Amino acid sequence: MPHFGLYINGREVPADGDAQFESTDPYTGAPWATISNAGPEDVDRAVRAARSAFEGTWRRMPGADRGRLMVRLADLVERDVETLAEIEVRDNGKLRRDAESQIRLLPVWLRYFGGLADKISGQTIPDAHPDHLVYTLREPLGVVAGVLPWNAPLILGMYKIAPALAAGCTFVAKPSEFTPASMIALARLFGEAGFPPGVFNVVASSSRETGAALVTHPLVSRIAFTGSTATGIAISKAAAASVKQVSLELGGKSAQLVFADADLDAVVEGLTAGVFAAAGQMCHAGARVYVDRAIYPKVVARMTKRAEGIRLGDPKDDATEVGPISTRPQFEKVLSLLETARAQGAVVECGGGRDHTLQGDFIRPTVLTAVSDEMDILREEVFGPVVIILPFSTEEEALQLANTSEYGLASGVWTNDIRRVHRVAAALEAGTVWVNSYRVASPAVPFGGTKRSGIGRENGTDAMHEYTEVKSVWLETTGADRDPMAMG
Ligand code: NAD
Repeated sequence: MPHFGLYINGREVPADGDAQFESTDPYTGAPWATISNAGPEDVDRAVRAARSAFEGTWRRMPGADRGRLMVRLADLVERDVETLAEIEVRDNGKLRRDAESQIRLLPVWLRYFGGLADKISGQTIPDAHPDHLVYTLREPLGVVAGVLPWNAPLILGMYKIAPALAAGCTFVAKPSEFTPASMIALARLFGEAGFPPGVFNVVASSSRETGAALVTHPLVSRIAFTGSTATGIAISKAAAASVKQVSLELGGKSAQLVFADADLDAVVEGLTAGVFAAAGQMCHAGARVYVDRAIYPKVVARMTKRAEGIRLGDPKDDATEVGPISTRPQFEKVLSLLETARAQGAVVECGGGRDHTLQGDFIRPTVLTAVSDEMDILREEVFGPVVIILPFSTEEEALQLANTSEYGLASGVWTNDIRRVHRVAAALEAGTVWVNSYRVASPAVPFGGTKRSGIGRENGTDAMHEYTEVKSVWLETTGADRDPMAMG
């Protein structure tokens, strides 16, 4: 079995006491790699290495040089797309073609943010005070702790790593206990690209306590978290105790609105991309679909046919459309939510449970109707291939139904009415509105949630602000006397 060590201070190293754990391939159900198992001592070593790299080299390095290293790393990732994708397929059960498409985006992120590394600037504030010249500096925060989920380990990590490094911060990544290997494989490329030791570190662990040790470490200045809302709340509380900055990219229960004038072929493929891709294990899954009554039966029938035709199987086979659920606890959670939905009266148009024809934890793509407000499945994030389709009568009702959720990560609108597009996009309570599209991303476009879906935005030029802090500099210009007892 291949082995992946921790990556600390520019070297791949064993954990304290050479502790190890195994990563399981969700398709075969068998362990496929051993991973060094970081404990609090290792976290301390990694954070100290990151702090010392921050102070010693990285924050002082000209932005253009930081950018050059990031572009070099982008080239290496591009060279190794297939190897990195293979690791994510083994760790996560993700389709190979989906993994490759995500890993091909990493260089795009590295080049975009690498290009911003020498464009960080403050302001001059000419009218701030008659006797002073005032300007601001944007300075890097320090060590960033990136705590990551299992569903898209590298790309969701890169949403944080690229802007943080470009801003002059150093990084300690804590991948999920279920998908630890790909981040360590990426770290190896940092070494090859010639990054100074300590700029990028990885502490993988089977224990959630390791994540807790990282986020409470006194030398960590900022926590960038993607994961469940429950863990996000725990991390937020831990961060408050030491007044650390936190960004939280959390769960969702995103709504899609389908109006009667929409192009139905595009709707069916778009809804499929929004909820069945990646076996529905997407934070922005468009899992609540509200359809104009005029076309409701047609949309339910077409989505049911599409879902029934989805090919489950080996994620490495290019004909496969949906792979296994990535983790056993997640598989059990999806099954239990489906069972409750059925018991509470939801109608299962297709799917509704596990697939018995395949080995591995497969859930049949599921279409649910007759779901009412008080059912758990309408409110809770499923994180599986399950879509709820319900009718609406008016645009007003559609918006009211979409906005009832406690979450507000993403949303979809399907219509060809240009006026409606803008009205509805403005009224939806969500960080992203995709119109006649779903599940597309760019480093140039902000991403993040409202309500219980999170705090802060990743991507876009504003992401640089998340990793820098403003310092105001006041320079006296007149030499005039002033009353020391009165405020100037
Ligand atoms: P999770 O919250 O269980 O774990 C996320 C990470 O936090 C893991 O690395 C875990 O080890 C770590 N962790 C757990 N407890 C911790 C603690 N007390 N202190 C510090 N770290 C701790 O989430 P998950 O199951 O890995 O991911 C699935 C969830 O992530 C879903 O709810 C999904 O919606 C969400 N998600 C959100 C986005 C987004 O961008 N909004 C993207 C992907 C996934």
